[in-house]
Amino acid sequence: MQHNQKEHLYKILVIGDLGVGKTSIIKRYVHQTFSTNYRATIGVDFALKVLNWDSDTERFGNMTRVYYREAMGAFIVFDVTRPATFEAVTKWKEDLDSKLTLDNGKSITTVLLANKCDQSKDILVNNGLKMDQFCQENGFVGWFETSAKENLNINEAANFLVKHIIASE
Ligand code: GDP
Repeated sequence: MQHNQKEHLYKILVIGDLGVGKTSIIKRYVHQTFSTNYRATIGVDFALKVLNWDSDTERFGNMTRVYYREAMGAFIVFDVTRPATFEAVTKWKEDLDSKLTLDNGKSITTVLLANKCDQSKDILVNNGLKMDQFCQENGFVGWFETSAKENLNINEAANFLVKHIIASE
């Protein structure tokens, strides 16, 4: 690592309904980014706790507040093969915004992931314009079609999120 390079440590949340692919996305990203020597040399630790939205989530509202604490960015994930998981996206975003704001009062940088794009696609995702509009209206800085299975766009989405976080600092 060059001397003039600055190290950043960011806590990034990965949020979404059960089974949308959160764990797979994290594994894919972590495995790829921190494979071989890099991990051995730097000694990176990852803490991973998967939260899912269900009827009990409200009751554990304070727990999610604890998990959300000090995060700098978030992915909200849905499964393109299951429209209900897209319906839940706004609920997750509201939950996130209600529990976590940055010191400057703004909500944290959030990117929307349309995961399992290797499968048949939801009509909404086929209409990119609609997705752009949805992101604008709901406070997402952008969206990506991803596949944790085929390793599509995971790195691109992560780089995009980090760039936005750095730019907003
Ligand atoms: P989580 O509950 O959100 O953490 O979801 P998981 O990561 O456990 O994934 C749920 C299921 O979806 C598993 O069977 C995964 O193998 C599968 N899965 C995750 N990502 C993808 C993807 O991009 N494409 C396909 N086809 N399956 C996926």
